[in-house]
Amino acid sequence: MPPVDQQTDQQDIYVALGGNLENPLHSFITARKRLARHPSLSVVRSSPVYRTPAIGGPEGQPDYLNAVLELRGNLTAPQLLAVCQQIETDCGRPREQHWGPRTLDLDILFYGEQHCESPQLTLPHPRLQDRHFVLLPLADLRDDLYHPVLKCSVAQLLQRLPPACGIRKLHEQW
Ligand code: ATP
Ligand code: CA
Ligand code: CA
Repeated sequence: MPPVDQQTDQQDIYVALGGNLENPLHSFITARKRLARHPSLSVVRSSPVYRTPAIGGPEGQPDYLNAVLELRGNLTAPQLLAVCQQIETDCGRPREQHWGPRTLDLDILFYGEQHCESPQLTLPHPRLQDRHFVLLPLADLRDDLYHPVLKCSVAQLLQRLPPACGIRKLHEQW
């Protein structure tokens, strides 16, 4: 596996989108356009958009919209994280409250088979296996995707979760 700070070969990348303030679908479309415009990235496919009641964080938040994008690119993972954080900021994301409401959250779920663990960047994303709102849209794209640390597929991770509650598919295409 190449070190995370060197340019890599083209990788399959999965990025989760989430948001529950203002118009999250509009932010998702903006984020997808921005990623597609990047010279070292292409957007391959988009999952359906799901709607999910907020879990954790402050009481009384609006529901979230969630989706996953499949990208291909040869940025390094830290470079991709910086691109994602700039897009979040440009979409007006406040950064005060942990798990608080936000216009746009971009989490890198998988970056090829890269595995790294630091507070700045952990790959695969350390909580993806706990979240229907990540695994359902991801499985719509690639239910056979292999988790290199947990050593099982996305479909198997979904089977390990209790039944989904309150999440529903909102838009097939966007
Ligand atoms: P969660 O990570 O539980 O979904 P969150 O998305 O609300 O929570 P943020 O406030 O968006 O958390 O991010 C906190 C930090 O997580 C970021 O500053 C970023 O450096 C770090 N981080 C670590 N691994 C990743 C990853 N795979 N994708 C995106 N950010 C990551
Ligand atoms: Ca997140
Ligand atoms: Ca995040």
